Amino acid sequence: MDISKLIRKNIASLAPYSCARNEFEGEARVFLDANENPYNEPYNRYPDPLQRDLKRRIAEIKGVRPGQIFLGNGSDESIDLAFRAFCEPREDNVVAIAPTYGMYQVSADINDVEYRKVLLDDNYSFKAASLLAACDGHTKLIFICSPNNPTGNSMPSAEIRELLERFEGLVVVDEAYIDFSSQPSLLAELDRYPNLLVFQTFSKAWGSAGLRLGLAFASEEIIGIYNKIKYPYNINMLTQRQLMPLLESPSKVRAWVAILLEERARLAAGLQALKTVRHIYPSDANFLLVKVDDPVGLYNRLVGEGIIVRNRHGVRLCEGCLRITVGTPRENDILLDTLKQWEK
Ligand SMILES: *Cc1c(COP(=O)(O)O)cnc(C)c1O
Repeated sequence: MDISKLIRKNIASLAPYSCARNEFEGEARVFLDANENPYNEPYNRYPDPLQRDLKRRIAEIKGVRPGQIFLGNGSDESIDLAFRAFCEPREDNVVAIAPTYGMYQVSADINDVEYRKVLLDDNYSFKAASLLAACDGHTKLIFICSPNNPTGNSMPSAEIRELLERFEGLVVVDEAYIDFSSQPSLLAELDRYPNLLVFQTFSKAWGSAGLRLGLAFASEEIIGIYNKIKYPYNINMLTQRQLMPLLESPSKVRAWVAILLEERARLAAGLQALKTVRHIYPSDANFLLVKVDDPVGLYNRLVGEGIIVRNRHGVRLCEGCLRITVGTPRENDILLDTLKQWEK
């Protein structure tokens, strides 16, 4: 697999911006190289463009090498950079499962790249062959989201592996919800598949959506391309500093996840008991996709009570469904009590 053949020509030949912090690394007595103001410490200084402290720690936690990590301004940046690095506008295309996370299509549209959807089957699953059938010589990326948003289930790992072995472009596996899943991450397979890109995020299990920090994991070669085209200082100093304490105590995250998994089961059981609930789809994530009798009516009544869920009725294959995030025990009780009262 020759990754360099997949890169857009202008990106392959690009001379990246070289910032002061790239040209000189290390300790010094005085920094007079970046036209910074010497006052207002510590925010007067530019942040580390490659976030080395964070990556060292993340590498330990995730069992990868620091050079296999890219940090972005949310997963949104990792998604956008995949298009900008590999997809020639109006020439190349990408293939994705449907329904899935909306940002892949938005990013494709912004970059003027054709987005080909392959509908999931009745079990919200797919066969590698049907995705490969949608590909042609201009297909650069395949997007898989596992566990998938909004369906909640994990995608079949044997089919993902078949894609990694047979597809001649890059396979992006978005694992935003992997911490809630019973299935293992594909991170352990990075060295085996040079065309694998795994996206994760600090926005869900790590409780840090407000910090905007997404992760992309891939070969050093692919991460090198990402680093070449990203904004030089894409992660600000506050975000880098705020995340460190959490990275030092991952047991905190494991404790949150344990509570949320218990609550997911309790919420599912409570919803199942309601007459208006027709089906609860199996979930490997921190939300439930729930089919109800009157999705729009129920959604609006919940809004009237100040309870906001996500209406997915308009999404193909999710007709009749609401997507409900698992909250704290108290938040889940408010939802369940409200719904129960309405059935009296
Ligand atoms: C929530 C979510 C993300 C997270 O996006 P960020 O930009 O990192 O907050 C990524 N992928 C999927 C599928 C999601 O549902």
